[in-house]
Amino acid sequence: MSSLFIKNVNILNPFSDEILDERNVFIKGNKIESVGVNETTLVGSYKVIDGQDAFLLPGFIDSHAHIMANGFHKAETMKNPLALHFYRALDNMKATLNAGVTSIRDCGLADIGVKMAQERGMLRSPRLNISVQPLSITGGHFDFHLNSGFDMEIRYPGFPSGVCDGVEGVLKKTRQVIRAQADFIKIMASGGVLSAYSSPENPQFNSKELAAIVNEAKANDLNVVAHCHSLKGMNNCIKAGVKSIEHGTFIDRKTAQAIAKKRIYLTPTLVVHHTLIEEGFPSWDNFAKERLKKLEEVVKIQKENISIAYEEGVRFLMGSDCGVIDHGRNLGELKYLVDIGMEPIEAIEAGTIRGARFFKQDDRLGSIEEGKLADLIMVKGNPVDDISILADNDNIKKVVLDGKLVKDKLI
Ligand SMILES: [Zn+2]
Repeated sequence: MSSLFIKNVNILNPFSDEILDERNVFIKGNKIESVGVNETTLVGSYKVIDGQDAFLLPGFIDSHAHIMANGFHKAETMKNPLALHFYRALDNMKATLNAGVTSIRDCGLADIGVKMAQERGMLRSPRLNISVQPLSITGGHFDFHLNSGFDMEIRYPGFPSGVCDGVEGVLKKTRQVIRAQADFIKIMASGGVLSAYSSPENPQFNSKELAAIVNEAKANDLNVVAHCHSLKGMNNCIKAGVKSIEHGTFIDRKTAQAIAKKRIYLTPTLVVHHTLIEEGFPSWDNFAKERLKKLEEVVKIQKENISIAYEEGVRFLMGSDCGVIDHGRNLGELKYLVDIGMEPIEAIEAGTIRGARFFKQDDRLGSIEEGKLADLIMVKGNPVDDISILADNDNIKKVVLDGKLVKDKLI
């Protein structure tokens, strides 16, 4: 059993912006054995890490990423052999760990085989909570048909297609996704900013379909997470009982109040849109020009609306939508959460313990406490003073995942 002793480190937990300075942390196997221990009491062999001037935080939980995706490039899906789809994800996983993210709520495409490989230590990846395949209506945000009539949805045994319609259809699809071992049900409840044939303003799935999905998920003790820009769509989702709304672009004050009251989470994924505007759309995108115009409008509206939602007491989760943008940009989201009104420590909370609570994993993840799993990052600089420190992966000096040092740079 490997052991790590991190000495003289400043601990920053998501519960308070007060730094616990010059603490010692002992990690035995994959667990945090003790915090504040004196080295002289330790027995056995262990690796020592000097944490002088560094800050130790829990590993981050990105509540919206697509570890298997690299820009949802339809022409690539058409050309690439299926095996490449999997092997290419290894770099995505590495980039995500390198950024200090040790858990992901995968909002579509990672399957049970990928999760099993992670759990068995066959590949180096953040922990995965998976939705397998998002549910989408015909012609909706995750219907990958081209105008040519060809379907670019990735398909293989054990990985269900996501398109479904009508109460019977969505019920069966929900059951298929549950059979495929989903940890939560992801649905597309509006069009997307980047989807060519559907509008983000319009809802997708009707109220009866939404109710059927949520009831079936609940019967299996699973939460429903809804991609939704549309105001009408969000209100449909609230009524149906979804647990988390993604993007939330056109949210208004009244809807925000309802979301806050029902304790529904909002994952605004602000970094994805900013990054696409700042760095441009991928060169393969034929619609880049039209989409950029649409996106610039959306970003402006979203910032105002999400700020209102924050004022109304909505609880946010940190999610980056990496997979649409490059993997490893995950913690860029924190800065935008601070921009809409959060204190840095609350943005950190949204990216750690809250993400763990969503899956009732807060007894073992999301903070630095004795007995919890050793998912930790060591950072140069105090993120409470400047949250953007965390967006620069060069400042993430060390990453510990399940007790193992998976990034080890000099402080
Ligand atoms: Zn997404």
